[in-house]
Amino acid sequence: DLPNIKGNVKFENLVFEYEPGRPALKGFNLDVRAGQSIALVGHTGSGKSTIMNLLCRFYDPTEGRIEIDGNNIRHVTIQSLRSQIGVVLQDTFIFSGTIRDNIRFGRLNATNEEIELAAKAVHAHDFIVSLPNGYDTEVQERGNVLSMGQRQLISFARALLANPRVLILDEATASIDTDTELKIQEALKTLLAGRTSFIVAHRLSTIRNADKIVVLDHGRMMEIGNHDEL
Ligand code: ATP
Ligand code: MG
Repeated sequence: DLPNIKGNVKFENLVFEYEPGRPALKGFNLDVRAGQSIALVGHTGSGKSTIMNLLCRFYDPTEGRIEIDGNNIRHVTIQSLRSQIGVVLQDTFIFSGTIRDNIRFGRLNATNEEIELAAKAVHAHDFIVSLPNGYDTEVQERGNVLSMGQRQLISFARALLANPRVLILDEATASIDTDTELKIQEALKTLLAGRTSFIVAHRLSTIRNADKIVVLDHGRMMEIGNHDEL
C-alpha cells in the first residue's frame, strides 16, 4: 500500500504510447513539491490528459516512472493510490440521487454537518438551500435542475470533503455566468489550498494563480515557469 502521503510528486523521463510507435509523451520530467499547484496548458493532443491518466494509473508508462513521496506508484496498490488522489473531471459527474448524496460521495461516512461545511466552503450552500428541497433535492445525471456552474461547485464540495493530498482537475470550458464564475474562482482557491494540484487549465485566472505553468507541445514540455516568467 501507499503510505499516507504528503504529496511530493516526481515525473521521471515519462514516455507513453497508446499505440506502438506513436508516443503521446516523449520524456516528461517534472518535480513537484507538496502543496504546489501546477497548471498544464497546451494544444489539443499535446499530452495533458495523458499525464493525468498515468498519475491515476489508468495506464502504466511505457518508460520512466512516477513517484509520490519517493514511492514508485507502479509498485503500490491502485486502491491505496486512488484513495489519496482526488479527481475532478471536466464533465463533472453528477449521479441520480439527492444533492447530499452527490456531495457525500467524496467520503461516504461524512455527517450532514460536514457536508454542509464543505458546501459552504465552496459557496454552494446558498444555491442549494434555495432549491425546493434543499440538500434533499433530487438531481439526475443529465437533468437540468443544476446549471453547469452549479455542477462544478457540487463536485468541488465533494472533492473538498474527500480531502485528498493530491488533486487532479480538468477544468471545465463551459461558459458560465459572471456571478457563478467568481464563486468558482474563490471555491478553487479554497479547494487547492494546502494540496498538490494538477490542473488542465482553461481559465486565465487559474493559470495566473498557479505556482508553475507547464506548457506542453506534442508530448514534450516546451516551457515552465509562473505567470510572471512566461
Ligand atoms: P485535449 O486538450 O484535447 O484534451 P490533451 O493535451 O489532453 O488534449 P491527450 O489526450 O493527452 O491530449 O492526447 C495526447 C495524444 O494521445 C494525442 O495524439 C491523442 O490523439 C492520443 N490519445 C489520447 N488518448 C488516446 C487513446 N485512448 N488511444 C489512442 N490515442 C490516444
Ligand atoms: Mg485532455
